[in-house]
Amino acid sequence: MHDVIVIGGGVIGLSIARELASSKSVLLLDRGPTGQGTSHAAAGMLTPLSEADDQGPFFQLCRTSLAMYDRFVEELQQESSLDVAYSKEGLLSLASSEESAATLLRRYEWQHQAGFEVELLPPGEVRKMEPLVTVPVIHALFMPGERSVAPRRLLNAIRESCFVRGVEIRTGVHVDAVSPNTVHFGHMTMQAAAIVIASGVWSAELNGLNPRIPLSPRKGQILSLAMAPGAFRRMIRWGHSYLVPRPTGELIVGATNEDAGFDSSVTPAGLGRLLMDAQAISSYLGSYPIVETWTGLRPATPDELPILGSAAIHGVYYATGHYRNGVLLAPITATIVADLIEGHKPRVDLEPYSPSRFESN
Ligand SMILES: Cc1cc2nc3c(=O)[nH]c(=O)nc-3n(C[C@H](O)[C@H](O)[C@H](O)COP(=O)(O)OP(=O)(O)OC[C@H]3O[C@@H](n4cnc5c(N)ncnc54)[C@H](O)[C@@H]3O)c2cc1C
Repeated sequence: MHDVIVIGGGVIGLSIARELASSKSVLLLDRGPTGQGTSHAAAGMLTPLSEADDQGPFFQLCRTSLAMYDRFVEELQQESSLDVAYSKEGLLSLASSEESAATLLRRYEWQHQAGFEVELLPPGEVRKMEPLVTVPVIHALFMPGERSVAPRRLLNAIRESCFVRGVEIRTGVHVDAVSPNTVHFGHMTMQAAAIVIASGVWSAELNGLNPRIPLSPRKGQILSLAMAPGAFRRMIRWGHSYLVPRPTGELIVGATNEDAGFDSSVTPAGLGRLLMDAQAISSYLGSYPIVETWTGLRPATPDELPILGSAAIHGVYYATGHYRNGVLLAPITATIVADLIEGHKPRVDLEPYSPSRFESN
């Protein structure tokens, strides 16, 4: 019998299994191969500042997790000998309409006053920093502390690190239900002192959950272009779209956010919008080859916050609902869940993420 069973081998489940492996025997179960769920689709932006309008608890959670990334990546690269394409080049946020310029200015004012790393750039500076940007800009912010990682490489590195730390991973196991200290699949059951539900957008499908958790898929279409290494150095946000350059030259263009159930098709409307936005940001982009198009289903809760904490079932914990930020939040989620299971007080107030917050009184 293992101390801990983690259900789900995405960025969240793998990170939790890895974190706990130094003190517990851990078994991770996935119905498919690990790392092929939503995490496989992510852009890998680690960017809490660029969309933040206040310093609420969720912003603090994201900032805390980002602050853990240097060490997370260093350990992962050491333990796995894999490069996760961690970039510290920062992010440019560009506004071309009066409305988005006003939003950018508001963000700049509070973030600058609060002492965060954010610079208001003269519009001409943008072309100096990123010569391929052609969109006319009213205001531009540079956030040098925003980072990115290549999620597929990250998943491989976390999986390798899990093996190095002694996590047992069983794939092809579709868990049907949970009950006190028990997981059920087919006619089989397995027991553990702690069971962690980290099955992403599919978590709510497990039978026996208490409390039940409202999760819905938010579809994201996304694509990549083949460019020369260094063509873009920094991430760029413009309107609802973004560009994320990889060190190899691959340029990620993302992403839609659609209420389309569990449909994961790539559509002309979705790709069309991304391609139009990409070419608006840089008129050069129209002539580069499309490498890949894909989709992922973000696990969203009604308040768009994750679900972290104990279930009302003995020995069962939730770590799901990470919506648009699962890659960013993986390190802090792993330590929170490890704290809970090891009986320590979690280092973050978990009230906003309580699994029972959706129950009506
Ligand atoms: C287009 C797009 C772009 C994104 N960009 C970013 C970004 O830039 N930065 C960021 O931080 N986040 C981003 N996200 C969000 C991020 O991808 C998710 O929050 C994160 O991947 C959720 O991870 P997870 O481990 O919870 O889920 P998943 O990666 O989906 O993993 C869940 C795993 O559970 C397994 N599973 C499911 N049901 C069962 C079962 N019954 N039994 C056994 N196994 C089961 C699945 O096979 C899967 O492997 C993006 C998402 C999308 C779609």
